[in-house]
Amino acid sequence: MARRFTDDRLVIASHNRGKVREIADLVAPFDVTVVSAGDLGLAEPEETGETFAQNAALKALAAVAVGLPALADDSGLVVPALDGAPGLHSARWAGPGRDFDLAMQRVERELGTGADRRAHFTCALALAWPDGEIAEFTGEVHGTLVWPPRGDRGFGYDPMFQPAGHDVTFGEMDPAAKHAISHRADAFRKLVEVCFR
Ligand code: IMP
Repeated sequence: MARRFTDDRLVIASHNRGKVREIADLVAPFDVTVVSAGDLGLAEPEETGETFAQNAALKALAAVAVGLPALADDSGLVVPALDGAPGLHSARWAGPGRDFDLAMQRVERELGTGADRRAHFTCALALAWPDGEIAEFTGEVHGTLVWPPRGDRGFGYDPMFQPAGHDVTFGEMDPAAKHAISHRADAFRKLVEVCFR
């Protein structure tokens, strides 16, 4: 039986403002005040894990040093035909300039013609307590890679990812519609079910 979240404060172990806002919205119904690792002046740990779950856990555990529970996520695009790449390196494929047009071109180039174009986004969430206990949840959304990329409403690899059962890419989709089916939403639903209800 996983531990329930009973505190009134939670550290969001991320320096990414967009992520902090998204997570704050998700826990808002549970009367939890969130503070971000950035606001607390915590250093960002190096993401040395070999899986998304390991990276989420090491980020969450680094943040509980302040004495509060902490929540972290790690996510990426997984392409089985590329042996799981870009995977853990999803952000790095965009280079120092964070250029996702380049990252998408690299995915397309490495796939070549005739490849299996199935892909999924994965999100690992880790909720850690100051005593070191940790609860982990994973979410996924499956789809197909399209070329050329379409839409400018999302971020990252969204313009080339068309979720299964839809004829628009995440880049073309209304953000609320994306958030309803995304890997992050899937992982959050599991977290809330187990730790917040
Ligand atoms: P993280 O901040 O280390 O979790 O990096 C995740 C990376 O995976 C991002 O920089 C994006 O490239 C990619 N990614 C994760 N989630 C999404 C998504 O919902 N849409 C598009 N790209 C995503």
